[in-house]
Order: sequence, then structure tokens, then C-alpha cells
Amino acid sequence: MEDKEHGSCGPGLSRRSFLTMAGAVGVGALLCSHAPQVAAAIENSSTKLVWLKGAGCGGCTASFLNGGNPEILSALGKIKLDLAYHEGLMAQQGIFVEGVAENTEAYNSILKLRNIINNEKYILVVEGAILNGPDGTGKYSMIGGRPFKDIFKDAASGASGILAVGTCASFGGISKASGSDIDARGVGYTGTSRIKGMLGELGINNKVVNVPGCPAHPDWILLTLADMIMDADMELDMYHRPKAFFGDSSVHDSCPRRGYFDRAERDTGFAGGKCLYEMGCKGPLAHADCPVRRWNGGVNMCTQSGGPCIACVEPEFPDAFSPFFSKAENREIFSGIDVNTGAKIILGASVLGAGIHAIKRLAIGESYRDELDSREKKKDDMKRRP
Ligand code: SF4
Ligand code: SF4
Repeated sequence: MEDKEHGSCGPGLSRRSFLTMAGAVGVGALLCSHAPQVAAAIENSSTKLVWLKGAGCGGCTASFLNGGNPEILSALGKIKLDLAYHEGLMAQQGIFVEGVAENTEAYNSILKLRNIINNEKYILVVEGAILNGPDGTGKYSMIGGRPFKDIFKDAASGASGILAVGTCASFGGISKASGSDIDARGVGYTGTSRIKGMLGELGINNKVVNVPGCPAHPDWILLTLADMIMDADMELDMYHRPKAFFGDSSVHDSCPRRGYFDRAERDTGFAGGKCLYEMGCKGPLAHADCPVRRWNGGVNMCTQSGGPCIACVEPEFPDAFSPFFSKAENREIFSGIDVNTGAKIILGASVLGAGIHAIKRLAIGESYRDELDSREKKKDDMKRRP
């Protein structure tokens, strides 16, 4: 029965954004007190998920399957997530099964996808970048004889919502790294450019929610999906990431090694146990809740385990943050600000809060864009040479 005051989600959990509430009280606390209502809301949903895989390693599917937060798992036990189409997980095999053409969607994945797109309400989940090359044809990435770009176009046009999972789908990620000539695009953005996102390229006016990460954390995927299925209007940042996970706080702000940074005790080799800034840590530039949420069922996270953060959730990953094991200022990531000033900015960030983060974001973008301009100029110069 519908709760008149709070909509169909039961007492205490209205149809207003689940993630907004999660941001206010913490996802763990919210799920502890509201898991049955979240489950009920999603259980009643008839929305299907169509999960398409473009150019990527498949790590986000593996991460999705590894959901380890006990509260979420107990909620998921009751959630009817109708994963109607996922090329990596479903039984259908394409047009041919053991060499024989199949004409029913029980076996033929192309028919199944067509049927869902034409007849069902669905949320489109995209993993991996969408290749636009060569020359805008998308033929560098073919599935069942069709460019993946065209399959994406069909599915994106009719979706009730689009979720880009992982940094490749969100921003191009590793697939668009420097040196790649395949013209890899994110769903809604390529790097920080919305115009170059595949939706913009195809002229599709459908909203995308980005859950980046290399891979994306299973909690980020599952909880964002829950919010989308509940039709809630979650708060997003300037790159369409849910603020509940990718807010103004950086990895550095809550890093378990932060005390060492503040005391200027930094490792100069691996396995030292202190701050990893000298080892190339980009935690001050990464906006994600990894230190609070942690990975592998809340056990550990990159800097805690001794690996520098490589800012895998940012739009300009990986180019703006590589080489991964060199100090940020070596890449002029602070736009020419020297190391001491940079350290002071980072230190001040915890005091000044969101303002300084915005400045840092701009600094990364400006520095990276300058470099891209200079690379483009070099390419043009090379072409002009006889
Ligand atoms: S620089 Fe990296 S390792 Fe050091 S405190 Fe910040 S996030 Fe942690
Ligand atoms: S700590 Fe940094 S590199 Fe590791 S998952 Fe989080 S954002 Fe990515």
C-alpha cells in the first residue's frame, strides 16, 4: 500500500533523492535504517537494465559483481534488479549458436536487444568508451557486424535514463589516453568537453549520470542505479557525477596517511607507510569518497594499501595524472605553482573547503588543456613539414 505522506517507498524514505539523503546521513547509516524501504521501492519497479559494453577492460562488470558492503548486499538480496541485457553475463550468444542461425531471442542477443529497445522501459548502462574512429564511422568497434556507436545510438535514444559506469564510459578514460588514434568518446563527455561526448556528437538530448572510477566502486554503481530506478532527482556535480560520492572532498582530505602529509613525513620509496605524495600520489586532486567508503567490502583502499592515488575518477584521467609515480608538480599539475606553494594550497584546502577545490580543478584543467594545445600545435607543425 502506498504511503500517502512519503510516496511508495514507505515511511521515512520519500521519492526525493535517495542519494541526497545518503549524502546527508551517510550511505551506510541510511541503508541500515532504510534497506527494506529501498529494497521495496526497487522491487516494485518494472524498469529493466540494458548494459552495453564498449571499449574497455570489463573491470567495471567485475567490480559490480563484487559488491561487498554488507548493508548493500542485504538490500540487494531483496532488490529485483532486472539486468535484462548484458553481453558478458547473459546466455544469449549473438545470431549464431554453434554455427546455426537462431531466430528467437532466447538465443539471439540482437533480437533480444531490439525487443527491449522497442517495447520496454529501460535504463541504459554503458561500460567502456564509444569509439568514433575511423573518420566518424565507429568501425574500430564492431559487435555483430554493426559499429558499437550505432548500437549505442539506438539504445540511448529511447532510454529512460543513462548511466555511464567507469571512467572510459564517463569521460573516455584509458581508451582516449594520449597516443590513442581511435577517437574514443565518453557517453556524455570526452574529458571535460560535453560537446565531444557521444550524445552531443549524435545529437541525442538524453541526460547521463556518470559514475567514474577505474573501475567504478560497486557501491557507487548500485546506489546510483537504485536512485535512478526510484526516479529520484539526485544532485550531480559539474561533470554529472553524483555529489554523494564525488563531492568537494578529495581523497587527500580523509586519507589514512594524511597525518604524515601534514607533518611533512613522506615516503621516498614504496612500502614505507608514510605519505605517498613524493611517490606520485594525486589524492589531493581526486574527488571521491574512497578513504571513507574503502574497497573490497570496506577493507582497504589505494593509499592505505601503499599505492598512490592516480585520480582515476577525474575527467582528464589518465593523461593529466601520469606518469602515475611522479610527483604532481613534475607534471605542472598546479599550473606552474612550485612544490611548496602547491603543498600549502593542499594544506589550506582542508581549511578553505570547496573554494580551493574549485581552484584546483581549474588548475588541472588549464594545465592539461595548455599541454593538449601544445601537442596539437606540434602535430600541425609536423604535418606542415615537407
Ligand atoms: S598525498 Fe596521497 S598519501 Fe599523502 S595524505 Fe594525501 S592522499 Fe594520502
Ligand atoms: S583512491 Fe584514487 S586511484 Fe584509488 S580508486 Fe579512489 S580515486 Fe581511484
